[in-house]
Amino acid sequence: MPEDSALVIATYSRRMRLRLADGRELDARIKGKRLKPVCGDRVVAEPIAEESDWLITAIQDRRNALSRPNLRGETEILAANIDLLIVVAAASPQADWYVVDRYVCAAEDMNIPAAVVFNKADIGVSGTELSEYAKLGYATVECSAKEGSGLSELTGLMADKTAIIVGQSGVGKSSIINAILGYDAQRTAEISGKTREGRHTTVNSMMLRLPEGGTVIDSPGVRDFAPALQTAPEVIRGFREIEAAGHDCRFANCRHMREPGCAVKSAVEDGAISERRYQSYRRSLNMLPGRPA
Ligand code: GDP
Ligand code: ZN
Repeated sequence: MPEDSALVIATYSRRMRLRLADGRELDARIKGKRLKPVCGDRVVAEPIAEESDWLITAIQDRRNALSRPNLRGETEILAANIDLLIVVAAASPQADWYVVDRYVCAAEDMNIPAAVVFNKADIGVSGTELSEYAKLGYATVECSAKEGSGLSELTGLMADKTAIIVGQSGVGKSSIINAILGYDAQRTAEISGKTREGRHTTVNSMMLRLPEGGTVIDSPGVRDFAPALQTAPEVIRGFREIEAAGHDCRFANCRHMREPGCAVKSAVEDGAISERRYQSYRRSLNMLPGRPA
């Protein structure tokens, strides 16, 4: 019997691992070249006669998707149907909060709720930035993957959700995932890729089930994801306090740079909007493609 809502839980180039509604897991091929399912997708799939593989025939509408432009200027989708984008910064390498703001901005644009995590709390404290995000309504956690502090708070946020973990290299994304799982996810993926029916397949991405509930979609692409903000409306929409204050600007198309009657600039002067966040906003606008840097 065909199934109309199988979950893609791992991808190996053109093969996929599916979980059916009844909990069964099986391998599947993809019908045609144009269909490109990713981890987190709900798909229509059917058994193939005399084969153990199933066939994916369609992808259900995505609630949201993590995407990036590839070298040919096309949009490449990395994961779908994400409930939580966790941005990690750390005590070392020194936290770059501008980069955190860009991830949070991208999450807003993709309609994915964001959380901000400060890792390596064993070697340094986060300062005021984390409470700025908390004031804006984002979930925040201070943790140490090494010592285990804060991890139960983090798994609490992730329970029953499909999360992805992003951030600059070296902040401890893999360490956090492994600490939560209780095993080395990347090594396990390599080994399982090799032993599957003798085929040498490499796992591109997988959904890891957390012991406390919830899942993480992990892949090299997700781990290296860097937001590519393309347009001014994307930047404006991605800074929620600036977007909100902007409704009171004199001009409807105000970019909050040096226009007269700008409510955002007044809010920054009053301290209602953080100067640091406002500078991240300006820098993101100035960095848009096609503008002088
Ligand atoms: P990723 O590139 O973001 O996946 O970062 P990794 O998980 O590979 O971690 C980078 C380095 O930071 C490794 O040497 C980890 O052992 C170290 N590290 C990760 N988490 C912590 C932590 O909470 N405290 C300390 N002191 N070091 C950590
Ligand atoms: Zn304005």
